[in-house]
Amino acid sequence: MSPITHFLVGWIVANTDRLNRRERALVTVAGVIPDLDGAGVVAELLTRNSAKPLTWWSDYHHVLGHNLGFALFVAAASWLLAAQRWKTATLALLSFHLHLVGDLVGARGPDGDQWPIPYLLPFSSAWQWSWSGQWALNAWPNFMITLAALSIAMGLAWKRGYSPLEMFWSRADRALVQTLRQRFPPSQ
Ligand SMILES: [Zn+2]
Repeated sequence: MSPITHFLVGWIVANTDRLNRRERALVTVAGVIPDLDGAGVVAELLTRNSAKPLTWWSDYHHVLGHNLGFALFVAAASWLLAAQRWKTATLALLSFHLHLVGDLVGARGPDGDQWPIPYLLPFSSAWQWSWSGQWALNAWPNFMITLAALSIAMGLAWKRGYSPLEMFWSRADRALVQTLRQRFPPSQ
């Protein structure tokens, strides 16, 4: 799934319990961070026509960050940085795994590549997750899921008074909540 979908789903998971703003950010980031292993795309594109092209994206995307070892690392980091440690770490784990599930069901590449997920890394490479029903990254189910996640996020923003924008743009966050509440006045 696209980073935006992962981000929205992560933020929704972060709002399934009463977390503070920082803890919500941790859980949301846990839902996006596996794709950090796709950062090699920059090096790969830049060296595409060189004598020694780097294949960091082809080699490492869906490998380095999409596994149990990295999930435990992310959960431990969330545990360290949160006030409600166990709750935050558990939700971060959930958010991380929803990312993996999202990729499993809906991230088939344009060339038909399934990007199997080596879940047990770095402990073992025995498991290579893939699903034969997997749809493409730009297929309609992903569009519907993104739309649904966006609606839920807007509903939460309306109700709680903060939106996914809270993480990087407080002013836009407040403006969005205000607009939503003006458009749909909360009943007294
Ligand atoms: Zn991913």
